[in-house]
Amino acid sequence: MAILEIVKEPAEVLRKKAKPVTKINASIRKLLDDMTETMYAAPGVGLAAPQVGVSKRLIVVDPQDGSGQLYQLINPEIVKAEGWVKGTEGCLSIPGMVGDVWRYEKVQVVALDRTGKKVWIDAEGYLAIIFQHEIDHLDGILYTDKCTNLRPVSEDGEEEEEAEVAEVMPEPVPQGAGEPSAEGAGQAAAEAGAEEGEQVTTGVSGERRGSAAAKEE
Ligand SMILES: [Zn+2]
Repeated sequence: MAILEIVKEPAEVLRKKAKPVTKINASIRKLLDDMTETMYAAPGVGLAAPQVGVSKRLIVVDPQDGSGQLYQLINPEIVKAEGWVKGTEGCLSIPGMVGDVWRYEKVQVVALDRTGKKVWIDAEGYLAIIFQHEIDHLDGILYTDKCTNLRPVSEDGEEEEEAEVAEVMPEPVPQGAGEPSAEGAGQAAAEAGAEEGEQVTTGVSGERRGSAAAKEE
């Protein structure tokens, strides 16, 4: 295994839509292993192939929550999503910064594992946020495109790469209803006079996404 160089914004590869992997071979498995080692060395809780300069749909995720679970996923897709949470995120490709991002609270991810076997993963909370962050990388999307309150990491670095569930919306979002709008959601929270942790209701607008993918079984 090898530690790879993590590319930083504004590298072009971070903005490209990554290509699906069509053949799972030894070089793909080596790349997954190198990405894993690179993630642990960073240290980070997730890494997408474009972050090591490879425009392919591969991610590695380890929430490091004591479960010992490492995910090495090929062509991952979110096929179900519900609820909203707002958490604080950072990114290894944008060092020294964090911001607040609305994400789905629960997601189901379908992917291939390193042997080419199809896997379904139900994730919620922190793990769900990491999957969404990493899968965004495969579409050339960075959290800074969606976040509010982008700011330097505090000196103790405590906030880096951590996501705190700050606000939860009670209404489940219908499958494929689209992306949370950071602006809209923030505004709704403000209108409702919600404090951190208080429940707010809002209509969420956004482009439709995921419903087509959900049917591709
Ligand atoms: Zn990132």
